[in-house]
Amino acid sequence: MVTRVAVVGAGPSGLAALRAFETARRAGAEVPEIVCFEKQANWGGLWNYTWRTGLDEYGEPVHGSMYRYLWSNGPKECLEFADYSFEEHFGRPIPSYPPRAVLHDYIAGRVEKSGVRPYIRFLTPVRGVAFDAETQSFAVTVKDLAADRHYTEAFDYVIVANGHFSTPNVPSFEGIERFPGRVLHAHDFRAADEFAGKDVLLVGSSYSAEDIGIQCYKYGARSITFSYRTKPMGFHWPDGFEEKPLLEKLVGKTATFKDGSTREVDAIVLCTGYQHSYPFLPDDLRLKTNNRLYPLGLYKGIFWQDNPKLMYIGMQDQYYTFNMFDAQAWYARDVVLGRMQLPSAEERASDIAAWRAREETLENPFQQIDFQTDYVRDLLAATDYPHLDVDRVAELFKEWEHHKEDGILTYRDRSYPSTLTGNMAPVHHTPWIKALDDSLEAFLTVREAAE
Ligand SMILES: Cc1cc2nc3c(=O)[nH]c(=O)nc-3n(C[C@H](O)[C@H](O)[C@H](O)COP(=O)(O)OP(=O)(O)OC[C@H]3O[C@@H](n4cnc5c(N)ncnc54)[C@H](O)[C@@H]3O)c2cc1C
Repeated sequence: MVTRVAVVGAGPSGLAALRAFETARRAGAEVPEIVCFEKQANWGGLWNYTWRTGLDEYGEPVHGSMYRYLWSNGPKECLEFADYSFEEHFGRPIPSYPPRAVLHDYIAGRVEKSGVRPYIRFLTPVRGVAFDAETQSFAVTVKDLAADRHYTEAFDYVIVANGHFSTPNVPSFEGIERFPGRVLHAHDFRAADEFAGKDVLLVGSSYSAEDIGIQCYKYGARSITFSYRTKPMGFHWPDGFEEKPLLEKLVGKTATFKDGSTREVDAIVLCTGYQHSYPFLPDDLRLKTNNRLYPLGLYKGIFWQDNPKLMYIGMQDQYYTFNMFDAQAWYARDVVLGRMQLPSAEERASDIAAWRAREETLENPFQQIDFQTDYVRDLLAATDYPHLDVDRVAELFKEWEHHKEDGILTYRDRSYPSTLTGNMAPVHHTPWIKALDDSLEAFLTVREAAE
């Protein structure tokens, strides 16, 4: 009987799995039948922008958490696929911090070229996964949204790649129910223009707060106040920005913070993170974790310890993204193809424990970057994924951290060399703070770099 693999999700992680198997197939290997179920109408995951919030046209929870005017928040050189450079896709070097549409084009270009689209069933959310120990197979139940019909098929392996930045974590604050302005979670934030002329409060101190705050500033917000739970972000904020300790209560438009200070605000964006959510998985197969570099229960960050025929891709907190998903996908593929054998349950458990113990000792972003670099290196060493110079990638990540410290509004004007081609990225024609048009066409226009 033909071996079958189900992939849940056609975002960068699921597409990495498709690309991994297809690469092996084209090289002559006998590969299983792959079926990828994707709930949206197109691929690209979060990079597939939607204006919708709440529920979509089929009554499904909207996956998208990205917003208009979103530009890459790290150098593209750090996420470049080792088997498909930016230069190959765009025909020339492009600047280091592309807007969302450009990255979506790049993600799509690689999978378009490798012809994996027929493996994907779009508008088909996975509803349930059940493992039968006797037959050693999974029954995967999905809904064909267009036909309004459920059906179930059998698979030998399941790769879970549904992302973990879509189910918002939403705390409450005293008085928020009577706040007279707009209150929303970052998941529902779409266009910064809405906050022009307003005093905006962002609760949170991670990437979402930082980026939505500077977006709102860029598009004309009057002031930006961040509220942190444990520690401030501490960037050199320009005038108009302020960091406060945790929000304690709201009375009318007045926000009171833990240190007793107050601020009048017009709108509140809760940048309070996301939950890992797998509503289609039974308890005994379901990863339960917060957002961290080494979730427990996953050998090599991929294989479910209690049943390694179930795999997860992309469930870590992420410095590395696209090329880490590739490294995971290539590793998972090679285990499925029998090119690698997994060690015993005891050995897997002690490997997980060792990585986790190291993760617990990490004290700053630089150590975290080294940790994830070593993790990716470990995966790459076992597969034939094309050479990726992770030491160079780690250096770029560290430069990026310093550049953010130097200027939170200017770091996106920097350029870095590709670790694949060695070519330096050109400087973008417009400084990021003045680049209000985030379209692919505007970004790729070749003009003389602004002074
Ligand atoms: C606001 C924001 C900004 C970001 N900016 C950057 C950045 O600048 N650079 C960077 O490298 N990374 C960034 N990221 C990180 C992002 O997580 C990764 O780039 C990448 O999108 C993760 O890919 P993924 O495939 O694991 O998950 P996703 O991109 O979330 O894709 C998951 C896919 O699974 C599908 N799906 C979900 N549930 C089901 C189901 N039940 N059945 C079928 N399909 C399902 C979804 O529709 C989606 O297509 C950002 C994330 C957010 C939220």
